[in-house]
Amino acid sequence: MQLPLRQLRQQMNGLSLRGAGVLAGLWLAAPAALAGSDNLGNAVALSKLSKSHGFVSYSTEGKNLTLKTKFSTLSLEGNTRKAKFNDTLIWLNAPVSRHWGSWSIRESDVTKTILPLLNPSKALRPENGRLVVLDAGHGGSDPGASDARRRLEEKNITLELAQSVRTMLQKYNVEARLTRGSDQTIELDERCQMANRWGADLLVSIHLNAAANTGSSGVETHILPPAGCPITASTFVGDRDRAVFPGNRHDEANMILGYQLQRSLLKFTKAEDRGVRRSRFYVIRNVNCPAALVECGFISSRSENVKIMTAAYRDNVARGIAEGIMAYLNLVKRADTNAAKPGPAK
Ligand SMILES: [Zn+2]
Repeated sequence: MQLPLRQLRQQMNGLSLRGAGVLAGLWLAAPAALAGSDNLGNAVALSKLSKSHGFVSYSTEGKNLTLKTKFSTLSLEGNTRKAKFNDTLIWLNAPVSRHWGSWSIRESDVTKTILPLLNPSKALRPENGRLVVLDAGHGGSDPGASDARRRLEEKNITLELAQSVRTMLQKYNVEARLTRGSDQTIELDERCQMANRWGADLLVSIHLNAAANTGSSGVETHILPPAGCPITASTFVGDRDRAVFPGNRHDEANMILGYQLQRSLLKFTKAEDRGVRRSRFYVIRNVNCPAALVECGFISSRSENVKIMTAAYRDNVARGIAEGIMAYLNLVKRADTNAAKPGPAK
């Protein structure tokens, strides 16, 4: 994901021009006592957590902490934010830490990370609508990440991937629309408006990564952090992290979507697992539906860009995204009709 200055500013500021007034209002209304605080919630001892929610065992081996249900394994690492749910890396909102002598996690990770993964049918709402919006990152005057020597431009690959995923979804009778169907410049705000106007049931934004270190490789899936929780790339909770965005109405569904996408991408690409990460990217925070942004490999990686250049590998990436979306939609279909509806954005 490489952004031109204007979009970068939109991403960094946490504001679109349209949203600025609303958010400014939110911040003005926030009590001064909130300054410096987070919304991670109380510490919950893993020994206590393991006695509920269908866990059947809890074992510790040094800093390696393992909780099992009949069907799933949750592995945690003390003093880190790393969690593995059935072998897929998930980054927690806060590190697992010792609290009164017991390894503990924060309440926000219980409710917004672990419970949705353990019991998606309770966390999701049953929906009939099945409109998937696929957002091919960048386009037009914004090429995204590029490798001039190999003539690789992120904008072209993301468009091809989005089109392939659409074709795959159509074979499952799932309607999919693209925020751009050609090499066009489209602002981030416009992309969100399209998805919202169309009444999207979910949005997946498709990107490729780039890093100064040519050794970095692998796939990662980004979802919005809950309000008051830090992004994965930081431990700091600032004013911007406390704002509630439209995407926060779907914290639980975002987690389930992110996990299914990451799991499926790993299955089809066999790429390195960089995990489900939390970031406040513009397109995933400003849509009115569950959303995730996938980074399907590094254009800057010597080993990965050779793969990305092959049609067979790109087909695997598209398959990974499409099957991840289908896994999520099947969970939505099986959602408990008695499950609580998400509350209003506040
Ligand atoms: Zn990008």
